[in-house]
Amino acid sequence: MLGIIEAIISSNSRRDADSGSKGWLKMNYKLAQLAAGAYVIAVEDTFSWDVMSYTNCYVLKREDKIILIDAGRQEYQDTIVEVLSTIGITPEQVTQVLLTHGHRDHVEGAALFKQAEKFVHRADASMLAAPLATVFKQYVPAAGEFTFAATGIEALEIVLVNTHSPGSVAIYDRLSQALFVGDFFCYFGENLPDGELVTDSERIKRGSCDYVAGQAAAKEPGFDKFMLGLNRLLNFTPEFFCTGHGVVVSRDIQTFLANMWKSGRKGQ
Ligand SMILES: [Zn+2]
Repeated sequence: MLGIIEAIISSNSRRDADSGSKGWLKMNYKLAQLAAGAYVIAVEDTFSWDVMSYTNCYVLKREDKIILIDAGRQEYQDTIVEVLSTIGITPEQVTQVLLTHGHRDHVEGAALFKQAEKFVHRADASMLAAPLATVFKQYVPAAGEFTFAATGIEALEIVLVNTHSPGSVAIYDRLSQALFVGDFFCYFGENLPDGELVTDSERIKRGSCDYVAGQAAAKEPGFDKFMLGLNRLLNFTPEFFCTGHGVVVSRDIQTFLANMWKSGRKGQ
């Protein structure tokens, strides 16, 4: 394991619903470091949906690059600027924005990073609204089947996961051993367990496996596709399971994913 999980290193306090410089809401957020140069930002969103949910973005700070995985909603922009500043990053320094998929809660904030190269899978490109749509490049096919690359970025493996949206991908960072899965699997609308943004809780892992078993037993539409996507992730050796919404699960994620896959098979 590359990094020691730190406690939440920053968390803003609740403020009035004052507006920021561009009129966006100031939102609560949590920030934690996963490994050297890898961070999770979870924006507490109380207005987009009927339930309060965290929406996550991730930052990979390399020597010569600053990569953002997902960019949040438009309304988060002032908040994202504030969080990035706490880890010494200005929006102009972000060199790449990679999307896990094309839904607006992951896309819109990309407009903030004018200089950054932006990537999306081609099957989700049509979901992006103008004018952002025109500035996005597409991931290019890589060696393996269903695998892609973002031109110019080493150490990232991008895999089509086949469900949630036609172009949903998982992104594995070999350096931080973080696996970013977007909403392929996520903890939407769930509170953070014991208020922790990063956890190796066996209870969360078991609960996730039980959820998959339940989906299998209920013969949920699209479940077969989910299992195909999950199967493509089993060879990675992640230490962090980073979803589009909510808690980041840590420690021996390869076993966690294998157990999830077994739970899915058993339930079918
Ligand atoms: Zn989402």
